[in-house]
Amino acid sequence: MSHFVIVGGGLAAASAAETLRTEGFEGEMTVVTRERHAPYQRPPLSKGYLAGKEGLDEVIVHPAQWYAEQGIDLRTATTAARLDPAAHTVTLGGAGSDGGDGGGGGGAPETLRYDKLLLATGAVSRTLPIEGAELDGVYTLRTLDEADALRRELGGGGRSLVLIGSGWIGMEVGATARGLGNSVTILEREAVPLAVAVGPEMGTMFRRLHEANGVDLRTQVNVERIVGRDGHVTGVVVDGETVPADVVLIGVGAVPAMELARDAQLAEGNGILVDAALRTSAPDVFAAGDVASAFHPVVGRHQRSEHWANALNAGPVAARSMLGLPARFAQIPYFYTDQFDLGMELSGYPSLMAEAKLVIRGDIDRREFIAFWVDHGRVVGGMNVNVWDVNEQVQELISSGETVDLAALRDPSTPLERLLAR
Ligand SMILES: Cc1cc2nc3c(=O)[nH]c(=O)nc-3n(C[C@H](O)[C@H](O)[C@H](O)COP(=O)(O)OP(=O)(O)OC[C@H]3O[C@@H](n4cnc5c(N)ncnc54)[C@H](O)[C@@H]3O)c2cc1C
Repeated sequence: MSHFVIVGGGLAAASAAETLRTEGFEGEMTVVTRERHAPYQRPPLSKGYLAGKEGLDEVIVHPAQWYAEQGIDLRTATTAARLDPAAHTVTLGGAGSDGGDGGGGGGAPETLRYDKLLLATGAVSRTLPIEGAELDGVYTLRTLDEADALRRELGGGGRSLVLIGSGWIGMEVGATARGLGNSVTILEREAVPLAVAVGPEMGTMFRRLHEANGVDLRTQVNVERIVGRDGHVTGVVVDGETVPADVVLIGVGAVPAMELARDAQLAEGNGILVDAALRTSAPDVFAAGDVASAFHPVVGRHQRSEHWANALNAGPVAARSMLGLPARFAQIPYFYTDQFDLGMELSGYPSLMAEAKLVIRGDIDRREFIAFWVDHGRVVGGMNVNVWDVNEQVQELISSGETVDLAALRDPSTPLERLLAR
């Protein structure tokens, strides 16, 4: 009987496992995750879960019992430590570092033989080599256990939170922490928050949103060190000034979890290089989700996407590819965020958006609009802010590749469907 192994405890792993069964795979399946929880999704960790509005049930993709019912051997708190593509084996064991106890660490390592293997190892928080980062009260946010710890710190309100970094995680946690009644300072090296993700104009819109909600957002600052007393954080030194802090969150991005892939000498770029069918350079080894840099047939290059929808949709493509079915990952990257009273969805190709011009449809000041990134008359990205049920049309505009009438694109009274029908 065939044995398929999935390494990972996130949405890519869970969605691949589910698809393997719904596509009729009846062989043995093992899912290995170093965390102590069944695979779960991370977006709520900085939003509803952190706010205490969502519980574990909303975060976990399927309860452990589902894996048992599906005949899937779910190994939690277990690290996949070695991958040997030539022998078709993966060795379990070694210390876990994500809130698991690294199952197998105490006993003899166990080696599994696989027919097909999926690497869905995701990403880990980037560390900041800075004095004081080891103090109690200093956090990163990637795992459920880290979210629980932050929730204990911030849930009652009245604390001073300093966020280092104004990326999505910093901005979302800032908004949630304010909502819980904490004081929030965000420290950013660049001139505008989120500028890398959405450009300076949209980044400024997010800045105003945070400032209107009482966040002290300081840009172009140089974080020097984190200071504390009796082993616990008390502040962050910024350009010679100490900003008091009860809690510090370092949110300076994530890096793909490459240990296993490197050990197996898989081809890598910014992540594990895979083709459009999510095949790595090693036979019978596939990769999906945050860890994979997949060749995108539309943009004609590899791209890595650290987004929920990427994990959700790439897992099933990898599963079909593992089964030898037609499989091609050609999704338009999609991201969403919720901060204060702002909800937004962003679709588009980052590499094309970097060179594009912004066209705004609606009212930025009221934070109700769609921003389009337009390159030579073609829409290559679109972000709907507090405007709903348009994401599908935005994606169709992008995938059509047609040039659009910019005046009509700008005009909210012209239905988006009309632009498509030209
Ligand atoms: C706080 C937070 C908020 C987010 N909010 C949003 C959002 O609003 N919108 C959005 O689009 N995206 C958001 N994201 C990004 C999104 O969650 C990720 O893109 C998604 O989690 C990627 O899923 P994945 O399955 O590829 O990897 P991951 O979710 O990172 O899962 C990888 C898993 O593999 C395990 N693992 C790694 N190596 C090994 C090994 N050797 N052995 C065993 N197990 C291993 C890890 O412990 C982990 O459990 C957010 C991320 C975070 C952290």
